Amino acid sequence: MSTQAPIVIVGTGLSGYTLARELRKQDKQTPIVMVTADDGASYSKPMLSTGFTKGKDAEELIQAPPEQMEEQLDVTLKTFATVTGIDPDAHQLLLGDERLTYSKLVLAWGADVVRLSIPGDGKEHVFSINDLMDYRAFRKALDGSGDGARRVAIMGAGLIGCEFANDLRNGGHEVDVIAPDDRVMPGLLPEAAADAVLSGLTDLGARFHLGTVVDHIATADNGVRLTLANGETLDADLVLSAVGLRPRKELAADAGLDTGRGILVNRALETSAADIYSLGDCAEVDGMVLPYVMPLMACARALAKTLAGDRTEVAYGTMPVIVKTPSCPTAVCPPSADAEGDWEIEADGQNVRALFKSGDGQILGFAVTGSYAVEKQALSKEVPPIHG
Ligand code: FAD
Repeated sequence: MSTQAPIVIVGTGLSGYTLARELRKQDKQTPIVMVTADDGASYSKPMLSTGFTKGKDAEELIQAPPEQMEEQLDVTLKTFATVTGIDPDAHQLLLGDERLTYSKLVLAWGADVVRLSIPGDGKEHVFSINDLMDYRAFRKALDGSGDGARRVAIMGAGLIGCEFANDLRNGGHEVDVIAPDDRVMPGLLPEAAADAVLSGLTDLGARFHLGTVVDHIATADNGVRLTLANGETLDADLVLSAVGLRPRKELAADAGLDTGRGILVNRALETSAADIYSLGDCAEVDGMVLPYVMPLMACARALAKTLAGDRTEVAYGTMPVIVKTPSCPTAVCPPSADAEGDWEIEADGQNVRALFKSGDGQILGFAVTGSYAVEKQALSKEVPPIHG
């Protein structure tokens, strides 16, 4: 292996670019090559579900074009370059027929959207949004006809489905949300808080079809006709699938790296292979898959130090998630999976304060909605950090 080999970062999402930025604060010399399957534009992914609310289309969400990122970070950027394999023994990355030698390799290649295979001939009307290029395609289909309000059926009522429901309503579109659970964000919010969000979105005009799934999507005169498992039929112009994400781990597993729900790394973001690290939506860090911005920022800061020669473990603090549903402002800090305690709920219409408390009264998690959402910062200070 050449001593001249660069540090190679795969992925130019928030994880890849934040890491490069942090690394350049520590080390201005070591060559860095960034490889991405997309166009390399820098954007903030959370903004994708606020386009209408903030009055921005896909182009206006770009924070910096790739050439600017290359110059700013003093990196070599390889865009539209898809990694097809890793050869850990040779310290090489495979890009089709090309081989790229690395001194250290960072996998920051995100997660894939879960795609349901639903019978019917309406597939080309079904969109998923997990990056700016997806969003561009969705907005083109939505705005393309120029005839104003469209009907969008959203599959999934998790964080992303709910945020898009709010945003599309703010854009004046008709929204139907279909989801299998009988409440929204079942994995994230306690029931009272979920009810508040549902009520806020319903007041805004979104229609919910909960406790059922889409069985069939057929093309119809002006879009598609969805048949639900409960027998209902819905007409829509477009379908937005927001049924979940899966960390990209297959190429890592094929190369012999240990994987679980994601690419397994310890708190120093080290995989099971020498000189290969991972962070962001693809990584399972110390047993946790946390596909949010705060964890990846903490990982990027720690990993930058490690790559600069000072091995550093990530220390997760308390990490609340802000749910971008302005119809019912919401923040949640879920208790850890092994936390023992009970929810204490105060509810007044869409204003909910739900505190998860241990037997001795310690707040281990919370969800706040409506007028209580402003308490998120004060409450975050009371919840013990993940890595205490
Ligand atoms: P990604 O941004 O997915 O980047 C992956 C990169 O890897 C891309 O450049 C891609 O092209 C590249 N890549 C993938 N495979 C290959 C390959 N084989 N070869 C080469 N390159 C490859 N989190 C919050 O904390 N708060 C929020 O409010 C919030 N809102 C969100 C709203 C939406 C609509 C979505 C979808 C997510 C939201 N999230 C939010 C989650 C957050 O945005 C993600 O956790 C974060 O952006 C993930 O960044 P990443 O860099 O790890 O992955």
